[in-house]
Amino acid sequence: MDLFGTTGIRKIFSPFDKGTESFTPIMAYKIGLAIGTYSDSGSVVVGRDCRVAAVPIELALCSGLVSSGCTVKTIGIVTTPTLSISVQLLDCDIGIMITASHNTPEYIGIKLWNKNGLGFDHEQEEIIENIYDSEKFKKITWKEIGSITEIHDINKMHVNWIFEKLAINGNHKNSVKRNISVIVDPGNGSACEIAPMLLNKLGCKFITLNSQPDGSFPGRLSEPNSKNLRMLSTFVQASKDVEMGIALDGDADRVVFIDGEGNLIEPIRFLTFIAKEYLRLYPPKSFEKPRLFTPINSSRVIDFVLDKLDVKVNRTAVGDVNVAQELARNGGFLGGENAGTFIWPKFHLGPDSLLTISLLILILQKSEKTFTELINEIPIFPYLNSKHQLKSDSDFHKSQYEIIRQKMVQRLNEKGYKSISVSDLDGLHFNFEDGWVLIRKSGTSPIIRVEAESNSTKEKAKEILNMAESVLFEIYEFGEMKE
Ligand code: MG
Repeated sequence: MDLFGTTGIRKIFSPFDKGTESFTPIMAYKIGLAIGTYSDSGSVVVGRDCRVAAVPIELALCSGLVSSGCTVKTIGIVTTPTLSISVQLLDCDIGIMITASHNTPEYIGIKLWNKNGLGFDHEQEEIIENIYDSEKFKKITWKEIGSITEIHDINKMHVNWIFEKLAINGNHKNSVKRNISVIVDPGNGSACEIAPMLLNKLGCKFITLNSQPDGSFPGRLSEPNSKNLRMLSTFVQASKDVEMGIALDGDADRVVFIDGEGNLIEPIRFLTFIAKEYLRLYPPKSFEKPRLFTPINSSRVIDFVLDKLDVKVNRTAVGDVNVAQELARNGGFLGGENAGTFIWPKFHLGPDSLLTISLLILILQKSEKTFTELINEIPIFPYLNSKHQLKSDSDFHKSQYEIIRQKMVQRLNEKGYKSISVSDLDGLHFNFEDGWVLIRKSGTSPIIRVEAESNSTKEKAKEILNMAESVLFEIYEFGEMKE
């Protein structure tokens, strides 16, 4: 059975239906048994987001875990970063987060975490899935049934851990010289308790928006994009002394910032800014160039700004899991991607929105300039994207990338683009003096995505996008978009 997708399991809740699109408590029970078997009755910490479906899934999952001899600690409604760091803090072997991240309320799922803060990789997920499918579960007697302990103060532990790691004094809020005023919008999600707790301890003045945990997400949809954050933007813009807006997704692994004028800051522009300011605050001690990892489709503004600061910007395949794995393999001081996840490997390998918010507040408290002034030092490179629906996955073959490559290089040459290079790290990425374009078949649906960026004007970005689209139109017959 295809349990795991690109980020753990994420399906529509159903009480007992066995359809491939649904996730049921019975499945969660069996996953509990499979994890107990995999970990040989290890210790497991379980957290959940505030979705209503997370409760029956948690109960069933924990039942499976203790029935295979695991020692379980439950930490209640938490953010994904809190769950990921709690594996370390509570000295467990595995962390399980019950969440469907930013998806709409009918979805639920689980994501598994290792002690070092890395999510389970595909090999680990495959082992769990094989145990699940074969039902070769560890058999225990009644005497070996595990225990469940409820932990009630994990948010406080996470905040204290951040303070300790960043060497922030416990009395920090009394010694703040510049008051930072923010509006925080946890989107009725998991961060409703911890985000205000953190901002208060950091000495910020803050107003909350959509801050009652509610799994039906009544305030806004959970994905922190400009459409869903319109209310936050309006409030920030209308409030004179508010320096910025902070928005999180349902499980708060993603964080997006709004400047004082109500503009949403594209996450790679924010990554560029925070990398620059972090290195100013904490200059590197070694002679080696500081390294940063970001996916192939991140704006080239990051190279433009950080090259001058002698930072080595490395590219990865698309997705935060790939960024985290490259950081684990190669080291580096920071990783991030355009959905709004930021990873600080010196502290842990899980994307941590709360740690990122803390670093930003520390930077701003020490700066004479406001967030808007500082972020405006980072240029905006015009970017456009489009997606195209194939009739089915079988319409696409990897070998077609070669045809796309040849046609695209020819087209770029004809139009006079210079210094063309092509990378097949993920899809096909054409890099040239004036910008780049990525043509990539989606891993999960019959869709080809095109992303284009220019270093100069929107018209140029449009020209680049259109060029790639015209190549695709020569090869494929696309249908109406289904999503
Ligand atoms: Mg998320």
